[in-house]
Amino acid sequence: MIVVFLGPPGAGKGTQCKLIVDRYGLTHLSSGDILRRERKENTELGQKAQSYMDSGQLVPDDLIVAMMMKEIGSQSSGGYVLDGFPRTIGQAQELDKALVAAGKKVDVVLNLEVDDNKLETRITGRRSCGKCGTAYHVTFNPPKTEDQCDKGCGALTQRPDDTSEVVQQRIKTYHEQTSPLVEYYQQQGNVKNVNGNLDIQEVTKALYDVLDGVKTSA
Ligand SMILES: [Zn+2]
Repeated sequence: MIVVFLGPPGAGKGTQCKLIVDRYGLTHLSSGDILRRERKENTELGQKAQSYMDSGQLVPDDLIVAMMMKEIGSQSSGGYVLDGFPRTIGQAQELDKALVAAGKKVDVVLNLEVDDNKLETRITGRRSCGKCGTAYHVTFNPPKTEDQCDKGCGALTQRPDDTSEVVQQRIKTYHEQTSPLVEYYQQQGNVKNVNGNLDIQEVTKALYDVLDGVKTSA
């Protein structure tokens, strides 16, 4: 089973990804992780990607797809959850071509939908301790004393890209990038919208219900 998992920042995609991967015996493929590893291991693909990044250019779609397909071809897995990929229609088209050539296809596209204001509350409330790494949330998981780590480490910090202005921009960018992708996959008839506004457990159940019903190609 090949799953494309779409969801905005703050939607809890990471948590849900782990649960899905465990339950269905899938392999989690994050394009960000793979790109970092290829560069670190200094592979041919990694070197190519690095040269684009050094000159301030985006890594081209075919190179990203080549990295992902190398991964899909190299592992004997029961399937994959693609996370953060494809990001553009160009990548989606290249992926489809490469999968067809390998006798596979995208079986389902999970589209996790969360209201923008909810995303903003979730993200802007995040705080963490720079010393021990404990994570907090000002509303959902507050420290005992405001802005102080419970373990006595001192003041908590907020990631610079978790501030309101940056978060609004990240959400806007997500919608701009993702809407055309959702349309692309809708034409193939395999998009499943999942309401991500619910509690974590309810979202997990909704995702399981979708995946239980998927008829896989291979
Ligand atoms: Zn601490």
